[in-house]
Amino acid sequence: MADAPITQDVLTIPRKLPEGPVNLVGMTRAAMREALIAQGTPEKQAKMRVGQIWQWIYQWGVRDFAEMTNLSKAYRAQLAETFVIEIPEVVSKQVSTDGTRKWLVRIAGGHEVEVVYIPEEGRGTLCISSQVGCTLTCSFCHTGTQKLVRNLTAGEIIGQVMMARDDLDEWPVPGAPKDETRLLSNIVLMGMGEPLYNFENVRDAMKIAMDEEGIQLSRRRITLSTSGVVPEIERTANEIGCQLAVSFHATTDEVRDKLVPINKRWNIDVLLEALRAYPRGRNSERITFEYVMLDGVNDSDADAHRLVKLIEGIPAKINLIPFNEWPGAPYKRSSNNRIRAFANIVYQAGYASPIRTPRGEDIMAACGQLKSATERARKSRKEIAAEAGLS
Ligand code: SAH
Ligand code: SF4
Repeated sequence: MADAPITQDVLTIPRKLPEGPVNLVGMTRAAMREALIAQGTPEKQAKMRVGQIWQWIYQWGVRDFAEMTNLSKAYRAQLAETFVIEIPEVVSKQVSTDGTRKWLVRIAGGHEVEVVYIPEEGRGTLCISSQVGCTLTCSFCHTGTQKLVRNLTAGEIIGQVMMARDDLDEWPVPGAPKDETRLLSNIVLMGMGEPLYNFENVRDAMKIAMDEEGIQLSRRRITLSTSGVVPEIERTANEIGCQLAVSFHATTDEVRDKLVPINKRWNIDVLLEALRAYPRGRNSERITFEYVMLDGVNDSDADAHRLVKLIEGIPAKINLIPFNEWPGAPYKRSSNNRIRAFANIVYQAGYASPIRTPRGEDIMAACGQLKSATERARKSRKEIAAEAGLS
């Protein structure tokens, strides 16, 4: 007899925890509630317990159940038997002459990703990674030369923020007056990987970052950068609600196909249509168009004019990124004069066009230079060239 399909009424499935210690970091509130019930917390108390534990972890930065003093000693011991509160481990840290910090952190399986902190006047931005490597092969991007090893879990994504707060010594002290200035005030998903190809984990992690009883970053201070995964753009608005940046980088499909090969799947027109539909909470919220300045490739006056024409009607700011060179890169950075001339055309058309100052160049912490030295799985030059249509 053929095996009958196994069916079970969902209501009768016992709540079961996996073998071994279970990490609470990265769970949604609903998932944490389920986990606590499975561990033996009475259902009636579960919501309140989640609230208490959540605050210890995300508001105060506590990693040890013993410190959760509003829980009974017996309950703390029970929790410690089943759960852990773990974040990625710091392998190394470099500090640039301009104050930029770059950490290499190790995640389960021994993989490593990079996290960068950029201090600015009265604020600071943390650039976090969403994947080890990337499935895409943008021809100017160092991460793009590395195969996708795996997606990061929600815990590993929010864990980067917690790690940085540890290193910046920025967890509030209970009872101390609230300090409104924050060293880590903004998050950008602009490290390694394509965040929209790891949607659920990125969403769950950013929900934790925004949670009112935890890290409390406003959705306006979180920016997700995508190469243009069109079907997930609307979901980003609906399910995360953060700010959006798009790696635009070219003004014709011919050039964009080479620079950002995902353009062959969703071209400039299709991408712009999705961006026009991106809902905004307030009028002041604009979509950031990232535009890497590559000498002789996409940096002409004609490109600048085409760019402003293309994005007409979209509330936008254009972020010009001087290309950050990396060993073996097939492009050169546009000259400063060229970048200024380009910026001027964009500005004249009525768009803010900040030129991004490369930060942490001496420690290879600048945008697009991140690539873990430990991963040996490389895409071959041929693979990259073929994908980008450069061969
Ligand atoms: N995968 C996402 C986010 C990570 S890359 C994306 O592509 O948008 C973050 C930004 O750095 C993107 O705009 C990317 O195009 C840009 N970038 C990549 N390599 C770069 C380099 N070598 N110099 C300057 N910017 C680069
Ligand atoms: Fe991946 Fe973004 Fe680099 Fe393209 S630019 S290869 S999408 S990380």
